[in-house]
Amino acid sequence: KEADLHRLLHYAADRFSMFGEQQDVQLSLEVPDKLPPVYIDLDAINQVLDNLLSNAIKYTPQGGKVVLRAKINNHQKRVLISIEDTGIGIPSRDLKRIFERFYRVDKARSRGQGGTGLGLAIARELVQAHGADIEITSEWNVGTTVTFWVPFAQGGKTG
Ligand code: ATP
Ligand code: MG
Repeated sequence: KEADLHRLLHYAADRFSMFGEQQDVQLSLEVPDKLPPVYIDLDAINQVLDNLLSNAIKYTPQGGKVVLRAKINNHQKRVLISIEDTGIGIPSRDLKRIFERFYRVDKARSRGQGGTGLGLAIARELVQAHGADIEITSEWNVGTTVTFWVPFAQGGKTG
């Protein structure tokens, strides 16, 4: 179904603004004024945003920043959505396994934050169910950016 991505992103940022404040992490939204209609499962993409925003805030020390960003790619008829943080980062040796179920980087480092290691695995499954994909770039002690894309409604897959 067609979905209002603009509203979805604002709602997601609103859901996490309190958590961000509690952790002294500044969450901001950089989204174009107008976004094309996209063909997505709203609940699924909400879940993806929840998983990625909770990671970004959870793994970013006090005073850090998280940006939720959307960019339109007219050529490929998709909207790129990224969550960028200034957090603890992920060592390169762990990056290739990070989307595996239950995979977590050394838990000692993550401010004692609990978790099961499912958030990224679920996010990837939900994004891939849209015929789309998700990728992660990260630098240890600098930050992490997770990017996924969703298809425009008119160019979207069927079914
Ligand atoms: P869950 O999401 O199931 O509560 P989790 O956050 O540990 O637990 P994932 O979301 O799958 O699991 O993330 C896997 C691991 O990747 C995390 O344990 C953490 O080590 C690392 N990670 C994920 N996102 C980030 C991030 N933004 N910055 C730094 N490390 C991250
Ligand atoms: Mg998580």
